[in-house]
Amino acid sequence: MSSETKVRVRMAPSPTGPFHVGGARTALFNWLFARHYGGVFVLRIEDTDVLRSKPEYTQNIVDSLRWLGLDWDEGPEAGGLLGPYFQMQRLNTYREASDRLLASDKAYYCYCTHEELEAEREKARAAKVAYRYSRRCRHLTAEQRSELEAQGRKPVIRFAMPLDGTVGFRDMIRGDIAFANQELDDLVIVKSDGIPTYNFAVVVDDTTMEITHVIRGEDHIPNTPKQIHIFRALGYPLPQFGHLPMILGPDRSKLSKRHGAASITEYAELGYLPEALVNYLALLGWSYDDKQEIFTRAELIKLFSIERVGKTGAIFNIEKLDWLNGYYIRQLDLDDLTRRILPFLRQAELVGPEELTADQFGHVKSIVALIQERLKRLAEAPGLTDFFFKKELEYDPALLVSKALTPMEARATIMQARERIVATAVFDAPNLEHTMRELAEDLAMKTGQLFGSLRVAVTGRTIAPPLFQTMAVLGREQTLARVDRAISMLDKMIQKLSA
Ligand code: GLU
Repeated sequence: MSSETKVRVRMAPSPTGPFHVGGARTALFNWLFARHYGGVFVLRIEDTDVLRSKPEYTQNIVDSLRWLGLDWDEGPEAGGLLGPYFQMQRLNTYREASDRLLASDKAYYCYCTHEELEAEREKARAAKVAYRYSRRCRHLTAEQRSELEAQGRKPVIRFAMPLDGTVGFRDMIRGDIAFANQELDDLVIVKSDGIPTYNFAVVVDDTTMEITHVIRGEDHIPNTPKQIHIFRALGYPLPQFGHLPMILGPDRSKLSKRHGAASITEYAELGYLPEALVNYLALLGWSYDDKQEIFTRAELIKLFSIERVGKTGAIFNIEKLDWLNGYYIRQLDLDDLTRRILPFLRQAELVGPEELTADQFGHVKSIVALIQERLKRLAEAPGLTDFFFKKELEYDPALLVSKALTPMEARATIMQARERIVATAVFDAPNLEHTMRELAEDLAMKTGQLFGSLRVAVTGRTIAPPLFQTMAVLGREQTLARVDRAISMLDKMIQKLSA
């Protein structure tokens, strides 16, 4: 890349739905490209589909990019000299460009009605040929035009495609790509309501925003030759193009909701860390050396290169994302992890909405410490820890009775454990473990039997974080209260059995 031209890339989403994995990957690759070369990353909102575009989707795009940490240098909220960055605020610019094309006969007014075009389409269908507009308005005389206008027809503007020859470009990822001009339609560039279509607006914007590299999904390859002709007709220089491989589901079809793919905000709500998702998205189509999988943001910026983006579709593998997320969770320092988990605990109403005191925060932190190792997603935290926060645990008392014990024996065992808990001088995990192992030995019981009953008594479940650390975090008072409640539940059970 020549050092004189400053790299300027853009992400140009349409705000017609929530921001998804595919968009996020495109944004990330553009962002990495910009940051790697010390260039500029532009965010442009392509909102010309007025029926489907909604401000809340623009908000969702902005929120998602912010959450992922993909900051833009120009665009909504950031401003910039080459704005506005919403297409609907740029209609004058498109108007100027389309006027220019009309004046030089590179575009023309088309008066065909919907019905007339439908009839053409139907003919093509019947003849089993690909439909292309007949171009019957391409050479209308001034009289014919005024006649049609007098009929009250509102024209669209079509681009006059070259009728023969080829158009080609060197894709930064896929190499040389060429199309026969014959295959290209005289596409509509401005609709009858004066709003430009995608292929036209994108060319005007990429030029006026001085975009040097267009990096976007492979599904746009068929648009590129049309855009190149428009660039040329307007006398604009061409940017370089790079088309990213598709993201596929495990069945190798295009990734969609059907595969469980969620929007970026949903990934946030599920408790994925932005740094894990960014790392994962970077691997969707790009690799460094086919070995290294974990990259910090700084490493990605340093190592990213468009040459190492592949041509074949990248399969979205949720297990791998979970694995990476677990890895990133384990790397977090405990204060940070606790702060990130708190909103999930609040949402589950295990922790109140009010600001925590340092002591309360410390308590939550000691709970988080017990699950950090096995947490895959932050949203799992409430389910793994709710028993710490609940006053009274709901569980089936039968769980208190380990296999091979009678309810009476289970009760006696838990009573003994209670006595030892009371007698433990220092109420911490090593002491508790030592005391309880001793008790199992004294009772000639398997530790599993004793620990199993005790686990149910203090957590209400058979699978929980490490037992003695859990007891230590609960504290002596809470632990005893839970043990007492277990004993009274067993009492009731025994009474019922003997009645
Ligand atoms: N608005 C287009 C889209 O969302 C942008 C495509 C492009 O990058 O040119 O697909």
